[in-house]
Parts: sequence; C-alpha cells; structure tokens
Amino acid sequence: MQKRLSANEYIQGILSGNRVILSRAITLVESQLSQDKNLAQEVLEKILPFSGKSIRIGITGVPGVGKSTFIEAFGKHITSQNKKIAVLAIDPSSQRTGGSIMGDKTRMEELSHESNAYIRPSPSGNSLGGVANKTRETMLLCEAAGFEVIIVETVGVGQSETIVKGMVDFFLLLMLSGAGDELQGIKRGIMEMADAVVITKTDGDNIQKAKNARMEYIHALHLYPPSQNNWYPQVLTCSALEKTGLFEIWEMIIDFQKKMLANGFWQRNRQEQNLEWMYAFIKQTLTAQFFDNQLVKNNIPLIEAKILAGELLPIQAANTLFKLLN
Ligand code: GDP
Repeated sequence: MQKRLSANEYIQGILSGNRVILSRAITLVESQLSQDKNLAQEVLEKILPFSGKSIRIGITGVPGVGKSTFIEAFGKHITSQNKKIAVLAIDPSSQRTGGSIMGDKTRMEELSHESNAYIRPSPSGNSLGGVANKTRETMLLCEAAGFEVIIVETVGVGQSETIVKGMVDFFLLLMLSGAGDELQGIKRGIMEMADAVVITKTDGDNIQKAKNARMEYIHALHLYPPSQNNWYPQVLTCSALEKTGLFEIWEMIIDFQKKMLANGFWQRNRQEQNLEWMYAFIKQTLTAQFFDNQLVKNNIPLIEAKILAGELLPIQAANTLFKLLN
C-alpha cells in the first residue's frame, strides 16, 4: 500500500489542482481499511467549502450505444471552451464473468491526454450502493480540485441509473436509432428520469433513421407528466465521429442550469440529494455493522439450515439474528 499523506498535504494538493494528489485522495476515500476512514473524513470535511460549484452530468446508455466515443468528443468540446472536465466512470464489474465491462479497452484515450480533463474509473465490486457513495465523494474532491464539469458515466443495464440520477444535476440518456426500446434494454423508468435523450451515431446512412427516432422519442416523452422543475426533456441527435450536435447538447445543458438556478430547483435538487445521501449512508452502515458482527457471522449457518429445514420462519430467523446485536 502506498504511504498515506497528511490531511493537510491532501487538501493543499487538491486545492492547487495537483492530479497525482487528487488521485491519491480518491484512493484514500475508496479505501475499505478502517484506519483510512478518519483521514478520508477529515479531508472531505475540509474540502467541502470548495466543492459544489460544477455542473454534474450523468450519462447512461446500453453498451455499444457510443458512450465512451461521445464522452470523448463532448469532453473535448468542453475543454475547447477552456473548461475543466472530470469523467467518473462507474464500472459494474460483471457478476457473471467476474471481469469488467469497461476495463477491457483503452477508453477516451485522446481526452485523457488533455490537461483540462481527468478520467477516473470507479471499480464497483459487488456493492452498487457503496460505489455511489464513493462516487459522490470523488465528485466533491474533483470539484475542489477545480473541475467545472463532472460527468458520471454508467452502463444502462440496471439499478445504477437511479443511483446516478440521485447525484447529478442533469441526466442524459444516449439511445441508438432504429432499435426498439426493448431491443435497447432501456426500461421505461429510465426514460422517465432523463432530462434529455440524445440519439447517437447520426451520420452516414443513419441520419434519416435518427431523425425519425427523434420524432418518436419526442412523442413518447410527451406522454409523461411534466416534471416538477418545469423542464421538458429534450431530444437531440449527434455524431461523435463527425462532431455534430455536441455544441447544441452543451448549450441545452447551460440553458437547463440557467432555468433551474432561476426557479430554485437547482439548489432544491441538491439539498434533496444530500438528504438521500445521508439515508443511503445510514442503511449502508447499519447493514455493514450487522453482517460484520461476529455473533451474527457465527450463527448464520445454523439459522440458514433451520430455514431450509422448515424449522424457522424467515422473519423469526431475522429477528433472532437482530437480537444477537443487543
Ligand atoms: P459504449 O460501449 O457505449 O461506450 O460505446 P463505444 O463508444 O465504445 O462505441 C461503440 C461502437 O460504436 C464503436 O465501434 C464506435 O466506433 C461506434 N460509434 C460510437 N460513436 C459513433 C458515431 O458517432 N458514429 C458512428 N458511426 N459510430 C460510432
């Protein structure tokens, strides 16, 4: 294990925009070691006043929709405006193969070489909730390091979308043209969460199909009730290969920010997200305390056997384990 710095060294390094120290601070925050927790907490508390000033954008879509190509092109568009962008990728390690969906290729190679860009994958292990907390904290560290746009990327295949939606200001869903929603594996709930749908790969033979898909999505989104914030989800097209549509997407996000700041929803959304964060953390901590308890660990095999034998009802079993904590 790399030697830890002092809290002050982390803080000074982050505030001066030192990426090496930023990366080490993220590793500290992600650490599962109990001796790291207090130091991580101290660093986070001290950088808190310097965080919160970015636009946080969640981006999702099924594998193959073009997320990494899009984020690379979009990120370069943003850096070309002299803005600093951090990309945090939630990489749900595949439970089936034990491998990683994102780790097998070099992603966003060009963007990663830009001095105004920072790319950081978050390994998720088995606990999506846990990752979300670390991603939130990582976001704060990046903001304190001066990143003005934070992109949180997630693979559109499961519950990670809801978690990401709960930590960003703007949620962007990437879709392919010419494939039904079923085919794309996108659940209705995810469409409903989107502040914008962007149809990718609008180039070559795909242009007409993408335009048709755009009309279909505009129609589909109109069927949803308007959201509290008075924002109507937009549907745009883009080609990351030909670099078209990127300007419009960025303008739309700026427009969203302007409107939400004016109607108060920007702040309100972040306040509510902070409450959610606290409750998520409470649940996570209680669950960990329960399963880490030695008496619980010792008794679980016996209790499981009794349930399998039909000798104990599941709720009785759970209550028996809870009582061990007192
Ligand atoms: P991800 O799995 O969602 O990250 O998707 P990738 O960014 O890896 O892209 C999947 C495939 O789509 C790759 O072969 C890309 O070259 C291709 N692709 C991505 N963006 C575009 C685009 O704008 N136009 C075209 N024609 N192909 C694209």
